[in-house]
Amino acid sequence: MDFSSARKSMVEYQLQARGIQDADVLRVMGKVPRHLFLPEELWNYAYEDHPLSIGWGQTISQPYMVAIMTELLNVRPSDKVLEVGTGSGYQTAILAELAHYVVSIERIKELAEGAEQRLKDLGYSNIKVICGDGSLGYPKEAPYDAIIVTAGSPEVPDSLKKQLNEGGRLVIPVGGTNLQVLLKIIKKKDDYLIEKHTSCIFVPLIGSEGWKRMADN
Ligand code: SAH
Repeated sequence: MDFSSARKSMVEYQLQARGIQDADVLRVMGKVPRHLFLPEELWNYAYEDHPLSIGWGQTISQPYMVAIMTELLNVRPSDKVLEVGTGSGYQTAILAELAHYVVSIERIKELAEGAEQRLKDLGYSNIKVICGDGSLGYPKEAPYDAIIVTAGSPEVPDSLKKQLNEGGRLVIPVGGTNLQVLLKIIKKKDDYLIEKHTSCIFVPLIGSEGWKRMADN
């Protein structure tokens, strides 16, 4: 399979055709080898228009969802970014291409370790992967210019809002376990601006400021 032309078609037909306009987002999604974030038996599906299983009941997000969230985040080259829900590390790589430094937290140890190794092998040196409960953020390195949560939360965790820089952006799916709406929260002095975007379906954010416990966890 020609992964580079599959990636080009993904950018053209799944992202640009649906209104993703940010040239930097389109460029990095055309560059990062998404198949390498999946087990080899799934490589042929890596550039298709849906999420895929990465084990432990978790998924790598649909390419369009990665693009829209990254576009909403407005990442700048000098930014420090926090990602909650490392999973495969694909979104982490996209962020690392655009930002100065990325901290990414994953609660499942095997996924955190796998992503850390993969990102290192791909040559990224501006990423720190932590294993822990990201619903509490990562205060040690706060404040952040941008925070992205790639798991669905019942509400916006207070800890994440508090770890935003002045003008900082938080993009997070909020709602029930079966359907959420993508929110963008912008910190303005002592106030927060809230924008509602598309509806979406993410695996649950499990933690102190997310879902407390799931039936199968
Ligand atoms: N961005 C990832 C998406 C992975 S799915 C990718 O594209 O591959 C969401 C991830 O969030 C899962 O791996 C899940 O284990 C993780 N997660 C859920 N609750 C979490 C929490 N409180 N802290 C950190 N990670 C969490």
